Amino acid sequence: MPELPEVETVRRGLQPFMEGATIRHVALNRPNLRFPFPENFAARLEGRRIEALARRAKYLLAHLPGAATPAEAEGDEVLAMHLGMSGSFRIETPAGSLVPGVFAHPRSDRQKHDHVVFHLDAPRWGAVDIVFNDPRRFGFMTLLPAVDLEAHPHFRGLGIEPTGNRLDGAALARVFRAKAAPLKAALLDQRLVAGLGNIYVCEALWRAGLSPRRAAGTLVGTDGAPTEALEDLARHIRETIADAIEAGGSSLRDYRQADGTLGLFQHRFAVYDREGEPCPRPACHGRVERIVQSGRSSFFCPACQT
Ligand SMILES: [Zn+2]
Repeated sequence: MPELPEVETVRRGLQPFMEGATIRHVALNRPNLRFPFPENFAARLEGRRIEALARRAKYLLAHLPGAATPAEAEGDEVLAMHLGMSGSFRIETPAGSLVPGVFAHPRSDRQKHDHVVFHLDAPRWGAVDIVFNDPRRFGFMTLLPAVDLEAHPHFRGLGIEPTGNRLDGAALARVFRAKAAPLKAALLDQRLVAGLGNIYVCEALWRAGLSPRRAAGTLVGTDGAPTEALEDLARHIRETIADAIEAGGSSLRDYRQADGTLGLFQHRFAVYDREGEPCPRPACHGRVERIVQSGRSSFFCPACQT
C-alpha cells in the first residue's frame, strides 16, 4: 500500500503537469472505484482549472477555483483522490510516448485497469493525459466544497501532519500524555499523527532508540512537557519521512511512482523486513526481531531500542 512518502512523491511527479492546467475532458471507464463516483463527476470537472495540487495525509487534493462571479456557479471545490492499495497515476504527453519502456511493452493488462483519464491542457506541455490505474480498486475520487474541507468525514479528526515542523515534541506530548498504548500503536493512530505508516514508524523508532512496546505516555513529563526522548522521536519521524520522499518513496509490491520507476528507500531500511539480521547501529550487537502489534509486524532491535 502506498504510504505517505509515496503519495507525496506522486504529488510531486504530477504537480508540474496538473497545476495551472485546464481539465478538457474526463473519461470514466467504470461507474465506481471503491465508491461510486459523485453524480455528474466528469461534467462537473470539465472546463475547470487546477489551481494547486496539495496533499493532506494520504489524499491528493486538486484545488479547483469556482466561477469568477459567485452568483452564477458553485464555489471553490477540491478533487480529493486516494490511491488505495494499488492505485497509480501515469502521465502521457506527446513527447513522453517516445520514452523507451513506456510504450515498448504490451499494455493491455495495464489499460484494462485504466479507470479514469483526465485529458488536460497544461501550460508548457500542451495536451497531457493523467491516467489513474488501479487493479484492486481500493482507490477513490470525490469532489468536495473547499470550505469546511477539514470538517468533512474524510478529514475530520485527522492528526498532525508528519511532514514539516508542525510535528514537534510539544505536539506529540499533547497527544501522548497519559497514554498507556504502546508507541507503535500510538504512532499508527491516524487521529494522533496522520498518514504515518508501518514501515516509517518502525524505522523512526529504531533511529530514536525507542522500543515499539514502550507506553507512549512515558515520553511525556508530569507537567505535560515533552521529554528529550520525545523531542528526538519527533525529529527522527520528520527526518525518516523526508529521507523517504527524497529517495522517491519506497516501493513495495505493486506500488509504482508517478513516472513508473520504482522507489529506492526500501534499500535503506534499518529494521523493516530484516528479521534475524544484525542491527545496523554501530557497536550494537543485537539482532532485529519481529513481533506482532495490533495485527501489524513491528521490526526492532531489543538491544538498543528501550
Ligand atoms: Zn541495535
